Amino acid sequence: MLSKDLNKAKEALLKNELIAIPTETVYGLAGNAFNETAIKKIFKLKKRPLFNPLIVHLKSVEYLHDITCDIPDIALKLANEFWPGPLTLVLKKKDHISDLISAGKKTVAVRVPSHPLTLALLEALDFPLAAPSANPFGSISPTNAEHVLNYFGKELNIILDGGECEKGVESTIIGFENDQPVLFRYGSISIEDIEKITGKLNIIIHSEKAPNSPGMLSRHYAPKTDTYLTENIPELLKSFEGKKVGLLLFQNPIQKNNNITQEILSKSGDFVEAAKNLYAAMHRLDQNNLDVIIAEKLPNIGLGKTINDKLERATKKE
Ligand code: AMP
Ligand code: MG
Repeated sequence: MLSKDLNKAKEALLKNELIAIPTETVYGLAGNAFNETAIKKIFKLKKRPLFNPLIVHLKSVEYLHDITCDIPDIALKLANEFWPGPLTLVLKKKDHISDLISAGKKTVAVRVPSHPLTLALLEALDFPLAAPSANPFGSISPTNAEHVLNYFGKELNIILDGGECEKGVESTIIGFENDQPVLFRYGSISIEDIEKITGKLNIIIHSEKAPNSPGMLSRHYAPKTDTYLTENIPELLKSFEGKKVGLLLFQNPIQKNNNITQEILSKSGDFVEAAKNLYAAMHRLDQNNLDVIIAEKLPNIGLGKTINDKLERATKKE
């Protein structure tokens, strides 16, 4: 059920039940990060493999020291710069953090989200929230409460409704190797903005590829409809003549016909707006009984890189 009632949300969490929470990135499927019963429920409901760790959501940067240790100076600098906000840091975990959350790793992923409703909820709790995105494993991430309702309406008593997500794509994940920052996942803060603080970043996207099960997670964020990615829409369209086609376009519409449904991510060519619209447009196209969806590759700079990364995973063939 959709709700804005923080007391009910708190009550459910105290009973180790799950709720959905709004964040500025995507909606999360949240439970008490200090309770293994709640954590197990997250993996089960999402059908998420146990080797894929969760992100712990804190109410403020000070609580970082309760959860993690040996924090590099540059990590604190990043936290102070970007929190509350869409940056996740992967740091050495303290022993009391469940191995379930970290998928057996010695590190744990943490962030302070910036949505007012979820911050108010965290403020009312004396534990942090473990939360992956509130979608079944592998499918499109939810960017409004109705998306979560469609996925988990029967299983979740409380879906906190915080409106449309401001950023619309996942957090940028930074880990550390020998105290040097490394990019683990493209997200809603661009590499260029992170590098203003860190200098040149090493890019090692191994977290989502799950090193202990190669390739398993390379397909992700995927619509149910057969989906392709191309730099040349008119050319690929020729292969699907007579089919019902959905187009996911960056900026410019193409000549319409009855068989074509199109979504424009940003008429002004703004990456931030495009990121915000990305998943909602994918959800809409996926519900249109189309034969095929064709997505247009964006310029590979700034958040264009993040959007291209999500589109590549969404269109990856098994
Ligand atoms: P989600 O909550 O769905 O955005 O997914 C969380 C993501 O965080 C996982 O898919 C991993 O890519 C990443 N992650 C979480 N914990 C760690 C960790 N300890 N080391 C590396 N990556 C992590
Ligand atoms: Mg996810």
